[in-house]
Amino acid sequence: MAGDTDTDVPELVPARMLNEFCYCPRLFFLEWVQSRFADNTDTVEGAWAHRAVDREEGRAPLPDDEEPFKVARSLSLSSPNLGIVAKADLVEAGADGKVVPVDHKKGRAPDLAEGAWEPERVQLCAVGLLLQEAGYDCDHGMLYFAASRRRVRIDFDEDLIQLTTSRLHQLREVAAEGTPPPPLVDSPKCPRCSLVGLCLPDETNVLAERTNRTARRLMPGADDARPLHVTEQGTWVTKSKGRVVISKDRERLASVRLIDVSQLCVHGSVQVSTQLLRELMAEDVPVCFFSYGGWFSGMAHGLPSKHVELRRQQVIVAAQGGLAIARRVIEGKIRNSRTLVRRNARPKPDTTIGSLKVLADQAAEAASVETLLGIEGAAARLYFEAFPTMLKSSGDLPGGLFDFAQRNRRPPRDAINCLLSYGYSLLTKELTVTTLAVGFDPYLGFYHRPRYGRPALALDLAEEFRPLVVESMVLTLVNNGELGPSDFVVRAGGVSLTREGRRTVTRAFERRLDTEVTHPIFKYRITYRRVLEVQARLLGALLLGEIDEYVAFVTR
Ligand code: SF4
Repeated sequence: MAGDTDTDVPELVPARMLNEFCYCPRLFFLEWVQSRFADNTDTVEGAWAHRAVDREEGRAPLPDDEEPFKVARSLSLSSPNLGIVAKADLVEAGADGKVVPVDHKKGRAPDLAEGAWEPERVQLCAVGLLLQEAGYDCDHGMLYFAASRRRVRIDFDEDLIQLTTSRLHQLREVAAEGTPPPPLVDSPKCPRCSLVGLCLPDETNVLAERTNRTARRLMPGADDARPLHVTEQGTWVTKSKGRVVISKDRERLASVRLIDVSQLCVHGSVQVSTQLLRELMAEDVPVCFFSYGGWFSGMAHGLPSKHVELRRQQVIVAAQGGLAIARRVIEGKIRNSRTLVRRNARPKPDTTIGSLKVLADQAAEAASVETLLGIEGAAARLYFEAFPTMLKSSGDLPGGLFDFAQRNRRPPRDAINCLLSYGYSLLTKELTVTTLAVGFDPYLGFYHRPRYGRPALALDLAEEFRPLVVESMVLTLVNNGELGPSDFVVRAGGVSLTREGRRTVTRAFERRLDTEVTHPIFKYRITYRRVLEVQARLLGALLLGEIDEYVAFVTR
């Protein structure tokens, strides 16, 4: 039976994957074929409820052995003939020399004539078939529902066996397809699915015009964790009892639970212990390194993503020029810049606002990346000319008034340029982490060329968010007086932030990412932090052919 559809499909499929396939073929494909996984409370609670049967225990004598079968836990079974491999939670001796597999489920027993939903019955039947294949007499199994503390008997009758074998056949066909099935449409299963945050079923279906329904609010993933920034020079960051500990001169300055950290960002001369690095890599938490001056110099992370197909498509589309994507991100950037000017500039520069609209329309139709570069340059000049009219006052900050004629950096020569550069560096770091987590190569972009070690894809996605996240943050910091002259130092004409100044900006940046906005297309409330991830995933959906167009995040 195994391998009868495609020789690339592994010979043995885990029975657990049959369960996923019956729940949703796309879920099966993402998990098994693409090795993509995410936990939610259901999976974490499931693992906890399962702990009693996860340890191998008991002997499992074959029917011909003299020793009688009693009970075995976590029993490994496989059959090339059936094409299935499984780890049975528990197998007990039943009446008349039969053996009975018992599968543990964390939830309540459903009120169904069949005793349980199809995915659980099929998975259990697969284990039963493996036991039969091994020579045991096995005609039924039990599902133990931990929340109801009840066992439900499932008979392996002809109908269930036929259903199980036909699902197994369909599963192999879907695996051989090479592309995932489309997301379920308006299904009540999705909000409970652990992969909803990376599958984006409603968002993909809305953009692919498979439904008219508004997207449901995204289920929060591991949204409680936050980046941890260590800016104190000369500190050591180590691991102790599930916590990240920051110390200096043997004195403990702070400690944070590991599970509350989504990234560790170290600035300047800060040492990170190998033990902590290894733990963070195992948990897929990246460590981002910044120079003392705020330059994002690199990151350490675990093994690369297994989502090979996404990277393959990224290379193909980049080699074709990626113009359609570049147009969307630049158009989005110009529209968001225009909105910032329209909302904040006093007096309102109507000519600039009008010209930015024309340039955004031109960007949407640009015939080449070179043309797009010209349009973007013209828009940036107009926009930064209007930038000082959005600032209440910056004249008393080092370097004097913002030099809009030329954005300057390395080192910036006035405080506003210094704030913009640091903000862009933080945004680039955030998107480098996000694109890497989604499975992209952050260095291969569609608008920015992969030169000088630039994370070109992160820079591409940063375009539409520069006005919304960084420039809007700079306006808030300056106009609310959250930063003053003492937060900057001037050396040889270059302006940089003091340690305290950098802390204030970093805090403001994280606050900005935590700000909730209404998504212009999907209409739900969402933080900017999540928006970055959704945009990266939608770009992935485009590359994988699930939607036809990348849509930039544009506010009104
Ligand atoms: S979110 Fe919905 S469509 Fe996507 S994998 Fe899960 S169940 Fe399937």
